[in-house]
Amino acid sequence: MERMTSPENTPSPAVAASAVTASKTRPARRAAQVMPATEGWKQAKDPGGRPLLQFKSPRVSQPPVHLADMTLPEREAKFKEMGLPAFRAKQLSVHYFQHYTTDPERMSDLPKDRRAEIVDTMFPKLLTEVKRLTTDNGDTIKFLWRLFDGSLVESVLMRYTGRVTLCVSSQCGCGMNCPFCATGQAGLTRNMSTAEILDQIVQANRVIAEGGLGHLRRDGGHDAERVTNIVFMGMGEPLANYKRVMKAVHRMAAEAPEGLGMSARGITVSTVGLVPAINKLAEEGIAITFALSLHAPDDELRDELIPVNSQWKVDEALDAAYNYYKVTGRRVSIEYALIKDMNDHPWRAELLAKKLNQRGRGWVHVNPIPLNPTPGSIWTSSEPEVMQEFINTLIDNGVPTTLRDTRGKEIDGACGQLAAAE
Ligand code: SAH
Repeated sequence: MERMTSPENTPSPAVAASAVTASKTRPARRAAQVMPATEGWKQAKDPGGRPLLQFKSPRVSQPPVHLADMTLPEREAKFKEMGLPAFRAKQLSVHYFQHYTTDPERMSDLPKDRRAEIVDTMFPKLLTEVKRLTTDNGDTIKFLWRLFDGSLVESVLMRYTGRVTLCVSSQCGCGMNCPFCATGQAGLTRNMSTAEILDQIVQANRVIAEGGLGHLRRDGGHDAERVTNIVFMGMGEPLANYKRVMKAVHRMAAEAPEGLGMSARGITVSTVGLVPAINKLAEEGIAITFALSLHAPDDELRDELIPVNSQWKVDEALDAAYNYYKVTGRRVSIEYALIKDMNDHPWRAELLAKKLNQRGRGWVHVNPIPLNPTPGSIWTSSEPEVMQEFINTLIDNGVPTTLRDTRGKEIDGACGQLAAAE
């Protein structure tokens, strides 16, 4: 435990004080208060010595424009420019969004002499599969993709009974620098384009259609034939790439063949808590699910765990989450990675329940998740009985709470493990 506290990360007096208070009323094992520290890698710092935050993507080029970057009317306009009738844009959209193909050979409904040109113009290659890791039981696949500029990103495909979830990336790297997450360790390379975000889903749908994601039913079919749920919990901070992410979200929900025709409520955007962007999201008029990565109910600890807490404090982030519920009527999720002796104390469960209940009832549920190990990490997940106590404390205080099932650990595909190396 000692070794987890580095000199530059000594507990702040406030947290130390809380720990001392806790030790008076609870058994000794409860008194422990480990503070975040990094080992095996160095957290980038700003000139003021605080963890570096990168809100803006460095000025690097974006990939070429792809059909999925455009609305259907924009595609039609483009076809007109090429001297082709508008209905051809719809045909091409069907190939992409409904048949998951960009292969001209399979587009017999398009004029043969223009097919290659159309495909070259509308489908620049965005994602090249570099590696595919599948769990032993075949229900989870992690894809490693190379983008046009060599950047590497990952997505994770998971089959559950009755649904298929894809965890998508929204940025190459991440600028939020959370010390417990592998993605942030290398900083932000660039924002992903709308089509790069969407192509992760189309590629996953293609793999499913080819039978690549286990669990065939007895009659040979799958119980869900394509991705039904999206979580923006892959690489990157989605709300730091707001415009492109929202375009992608709108296209996921748009009816085929303009988009994927997915249900908006099956799409979850997860954020470290960029308050102005959360408020903007509430006004988008699309009923997606919102998740806040809180991980600590007190600013003393959250300042260190989630560097962006220096800008928007716990209460501001919770107010914005509550506002999202008020405006959209959609129940909000609070994500909470349980880290041994760091944020798993019963007093923190009590404080979290208090802060949530202060704002109202029935507007939120808490999704704790055992911390997943990351490279160089010396932190560990909470003990099972400590997790259970944390959950029970929340439930006893009237806060619906369910432990999140963590998938893909064996293939480094679980939350916080995505670092995209070959
Ligand atoms: N930037 C967004 C989305 C990406 S991370 C966000 O932070 O919400 C998706 C979830 O995984 C977040 O709740 C994040 O805090 C969590 N996470 C990160 N590292 C983790 C780890 N090592 N173990 C468990 N969850 C982790």
